[in-house]
Amino acid sequence: MNRQAGHTVPQGLLRQPLTALPKLGAKRAQQLEKLGLHTVGDLLTLFPRDYEDRRTLRAIRDLQDGETVCVCGMIASAPTHTRLPGGRDMYRFRVFDATGQLNITYFNAPYLRLEKGDTYIFFGKVEKQGSRAGMINPVREEPEAMDKPGRLIPIYPGTAGITQAMLRSWIGAALDLAGGVFPETLPPEIAHRYALCDAATAFEKIHRPETPEDVHQARRRLIFEELFVLSCGLQQRKLSLRAPAERPMQPHAPDDFFAHLPFAPTGAQRRAIDDIFADLCGGTRMNRLLQGDVGSGKTLVAAAAAWLAAKNHRQSAIMAPTELLARQHKATLERLFAPFGLRVALLVSAMSAAEKRRVKEAVANGDVDVLCGTHALIQSDVTFADAGLFVVDEQHRFGVEQRASLGKKGNDAHLLVMSATPIPRTLSLVLYGDLDISRLNELPPGRTPIRTMVAGEEKRAGMLGFLQKQVDEGGQAYVVCPLIEENEDGGKKAATAYTQALQRALPRCRIGLMHGKLKATEKATVMEQFSTGALDILVSTTVVEVGVDVPNASVMVIENAEQFGLSQLHQLRGRVGRGTRQSWCVLMRGGGGEVAKERLDILCRTTDGFLIAEEDLKLRGPGGFLSREQHGIVRFAVADLAKDAAVFSAAREAAEALVSEDPSLEQYPLLRQSIDRLLDCTAVAGALN
Ligand code: ADP
Ligand code: MG
Repeated sequence: MNRQAGHTVPQGLLRQPLTALPKLGAKRAQQLEKLGLHTVGDLLTLFPRDYEDRRTLRAIRDLQDGETVCVCGMIASAPTHTRLPGGRDMYRFRVFDATGQLNITYFNAPYLRLEKGDTYIFFGKVEKQGSRAGMINPVREEPEAMDKPGRLIPIYPGTAGITQAMLRSWIGAALDLAGGVFPETLPPEIAHRYALCDAATAFEKIHRPETPEDVHQARRRLIFEELFVLSCGLQQRKLSLRAPAERPMQPHAPDDFFAHLPFAPTGAQRRAIDDIFADLCGGTRMNRLLQGDVGSGKTLVAAAAAWLAAKNHRQSAIMAPTELLARQHKATLERLFAPFGLRVALLVSAMSAAEKRRVKEAVANGDVDVLCGTHALIQSDVTFADAGLFVVDEQHRFGVEQRASLGKKGNDAHLLVMSATPIPRTLSLVLYGDLDISRLNELPPGRTPIRTMVAGEEKRAGMLGFLQKQVDEGGQAYVVCPLIEENEDGGKKAATAYTQALQRALPRCRIGLMHGKLKATEKATVMEQFSTGALDILVSTTVVEVGVDVPNASVMVIENAEQFGLSQLHQLRGRVGRGTRQSWCVLMRGGGGEVAKERLDILCRTTDGFLIAEEDLKLRGPGGFLSREQHGIVRFAVADLAKDAAVFSAAREAAEALVSEDPSLEQYPLLRQSIDRLLDCTAVAGALN
C-alpha cells in the first residue's frame, strides 16, 4: 500500500477512528485497517497514484498509442465474459463516441455486469494496433460522477471492494474535518528556502487539485518532506555512531605491506587504503563502506587494514556470507601474510566441536591475528583478546542485525563493510547513509574485457560446441541454473538434471555439480576440484555468485537469464574474466520475448556495474535488486529514488545542516516524531539500532 508514516498526519480531530467519517461503517473500516489505515489522519496519507484529467475528455479518433487519457463513451455491444486458460476471466465490449470506437477489456472481473447503451467515463492507457484502439482494465466512472467538470480526479491505489468514489468521498470529508489545520513538520525556514508549500496546502492539493500545477506543488513538498525526514534520521544516526576510538592505532606506511605483494595495488586500492589507515589512526571509530565491482580487489584492501591492526597488536575478524568464501579468504590471507608471520585462523559452523573450541581459545588468548569465518563469528561465545577491526564482506548478504552484533563484539573495534553490489548513488545514500564510503572504481590491470551475448534456444547446439572448444583449449566454464531440482515450473533449468544432460552431450568433459543443498564438505571438495582444474565445467545454482575466484575459468553460461535481475547477472558474470584469457558470458534466454532480450542486451553493451544498477533501478524499481529488508528502507509513499534524485540531494543538504546545528533536534518536536514514525515502520529502524 502506498502509505507510510513519517508524513505530517493531522492530530486531534483526525486521530479519530475511521468510523468517525460519514458513510464509513465498521465493515469498510475493517477493510481499510488491513491496509494499515486506522485513523482519519491515516486515510489522508493514502496518496493518489494518478489523476484522471476530466478537464479534457478526449475524442476517441485522436487517441495515440501509449498515452493515458480520459474518454466518455457509450457501450456499443453486449459485453461478453470469456474463460481463459488458467481460469482467468476476460470481459470485453466496445464503446463509441461521436468520433470512433474503442475496445475495452477487463481481466478477472467476473462480477462485472454492464449494459449495452450505458455511458461511462473510462480512464486508462491507450493501446493501439493499427487503427484499432483499446484499453485494458481502465478506471470506470458512472456518468453522474461527471457533475463537476473541469477537475483533476485523484485515482487511489486499487483496493478490492472499495471504490474510487468511496475513497474520494471519505478523504474529502477528512479534509473538511481537518479544516486546514495540519501540524507542520518542516521547519519554516527550510520550507521557505526551498519554496515548499505548507502541510495543509499540500494535503488539500494532493487530494483535491484544480490543476496539474497543484499536484506538482503538493507532490514536491511531500517528496521533499519524506526524503528530508529520512535524511535527518540517517544523519543523526551517523553522528551518534561517531564513537571515539579509545586507542588510535599507530600509523605505518602501507608500502611495507605493498613491498611483499605479488602485484602493485591499483590507484583506487591505494586511495581506499589511505582512507582506512587515516580512520584507524584517527580519534573516531571507523564505520566505512568499501564499494567495488566484482574483481576490483577488495580483499587486498581488507588485508592491508588487518595488517595495520596486527602491527598495532590488535586482532581482526573477516566475516563472509558463505563458508566457501570464508575458506577462500583464509587461503588468500595466509598467502599475503606469510612474509609477516601473521597467524590466520578459520571459524565456520561445519568444523567439529573440538576444532571450534580450539580456535575460539586461541582467539581469546590472542594467539590468532586474523580470524576468517561465517556468521559463526558473531556467536556469543566468541571473544577476542583485543579486537581492533571487523570486516564484513559482501555485506548485502547479511542482515543489519548481524552487522550490528559483530560491532558489539569489540568494544573499541573499527568496522569496514564491503559490498560488490554496485547500487545507484541515491540508493547507497539511503541504505548506507550512516557510513562513510570508499569506492574502488578501477579494475586491476591486465584484464581482458568479458564478451557477453544473448542466445535463444535455437543457439543451444552452438553454445555446447563452444563450451567443448573452450575446454579443449584448456579453459573452464561455469553454467548457472535457476533451480536445484525440477519442480512443476517446467520452464526453468534445474542444476541436477542439467548436469546429467550436459554430461551426455559433452562426454569428454569433466563436469561437477554445486548447489546450496550439498554438505559443506561436499561443496568444498567440488570447489577445490574446480579451482585445481580437475573439473572442466561446474554446473551450479547462484551459490557461485559471491566472491568465488578461479582465474582460469573463462566462460559463464547462465540458463534462464531472463529470471535474474541485471545486477545479479552482472555479479555472476564477474566470476569470469579474472585471468588473462579472453572470457565470455552467454545469457541463455528461456522466455520473456523481446522485452527480456532488450533488458539482457544492456549487459552486452556495458560492464560498468554502477551503470547497470542505474538501468535496473529505472526498469524494475528499487525492489528489483535489493533484499527484502533493504527494500523496506526505500519504500516511499511519494518519493521515487529513480526520479527524485535532485530533490533528494536538496533534502539531504538541508537535513545535514539542520542536524549539525541541533543534533538532537531539540527545537523540532514534530520533526522528531516524524523521524520516529518513519524509522518505526521501515527497516531503517533495524539498520539504525
Ligand atoms: P573482489 O573481492 O573485489 O571481487 P578480489 O579481492 O577477489 O576481488 O580480487 C580479484 C582478483 O584480483 C584476485 O585474484 C586478486 O588476487 C587480484 N588482484 C587484486 N588486486 C590486484 C592488483 N592490484 N593487481 C593485480 N591483481 C589484483
Ligand atoms: Mg570479494
